[in-house]
Amino acid sequence: AAKIRGKARYVRYTDGMEQPVLAQMQTGGELRRALDENELVLFYQPIVDLESGRTIGVEALVRWRHPSRGLLLPGEFIPAAERTGLIVPLGRWALREACRQMIAWSAALGDAAPHKVGVNVSAHQLQDPSFPVEVTAALADSGLTADRLVLELTESAALRGTATTATLHALHDLGVKLALDDFGTGESSLSLLFAFPVAILKLDRSFVTGIELDTPAGLPDEARLAVPRAVQQMADALRLDTVAEGIENPAQALRLRQLGYTTAQGFHLSRPLAPEALAISLSRAAAPVGQQPA
Ligand code: C2E
Ligand code: MG
Ligand code: MG
Ligand code: MG
Repeated sequence: AAKIRGKARYVRYTDGMEQPVLAQMQTGGELRRALDENELVLFYQPIVDLESGRTIGVEALVRWRHPSRGLLLPGEFIPAAERTGLIVPLGRWALREACRQMIAWSAALGDAAPHKVGVNVSAHQLQDPSFPVEVTAALADSGLTADRLVLELTESAALRGTATTATLHALHDLGVKLALDDFGTGESSLSLLFAFPVAILKLDRSFVTGIELDTPAGLPDEARLAVPRAVQQMADALRLDTVAEGIENPAQALRLRQLGYTTAQGFHLSRPLAPEALAISLSRAAAPVGQQPA
């Protein structure tokens, strides 16, 4: 069992035991070093046109190549980053790195390169009034044009407030697109649609789960379809684009297409990939049939 002893404050634990508090302490303390030592990497998950199967964009998702714990997913360190404020330098790095990678792919792959990149932005980053200046610099330094950058936002207490609204309008004026991530959950609500110049709704994965299941009578389950249908109808009425998240099988993709979704993301379409793996996958997809690279 873990023990915290007096002023020495050291902690002992048995190998392999789940120690969430300890893990969080270590993660928070090590994250600064991880940033300095380039231990963070971005993986990229394709965002796919459901009709053609083509990758039209990618979402940048941070991973931590931890020297002893292996490849860590955001769920294991983003909460600590949010608490400690390190999410701000982490997010700044992610934005610049994603822009740089996009230009590198365009140079290497030409038309097969993804056209757009989505970068997740924390509410902490938006609270900084100089965030639009940072975005401008990231675009200018990389050479990426603003129309190829999508900033993915979720709601939180910090997303409200006049400073943030001004920031989001400034970003919109730069030509960058704003997406509401995890749309339909408590983190991303209808009220944001009218407060912010949003262009894209990302239907949360929880509304895709089970969408392919029929009722005992063998009919589509209208109760499960109701939210995805309503979100697509609302997006059509408001002239917004949609991306359905978390597509795990072809039956879900079919149902979403029937509801009017044209664009989706999920393990069935592709897992998030390291940049080199994504480049290989894209150049394969682009090669004419019969000339597939080995
Ligand atoms: P998100 O922005 O909603 O990203 C989508 C998450 O869903 C990713 O998890 C992705 O791997 C996962 N996913 C995609 N398709 C499927 C599927 O078919 N099934 C299932 N079960 N999951 C799927 P990941 O990479 O673990 O990231 C989790 C969250 O961490 C992200 O959710 C985002 O909120 C946050 N995050 C990731 N990178 C960054 C970053 O650079 N900055 C900030 N602020 N947050 C980040
Ligand atoms: Mg996202
Ligand atoms: Mg999402
Ligand atoms: Mg999510």
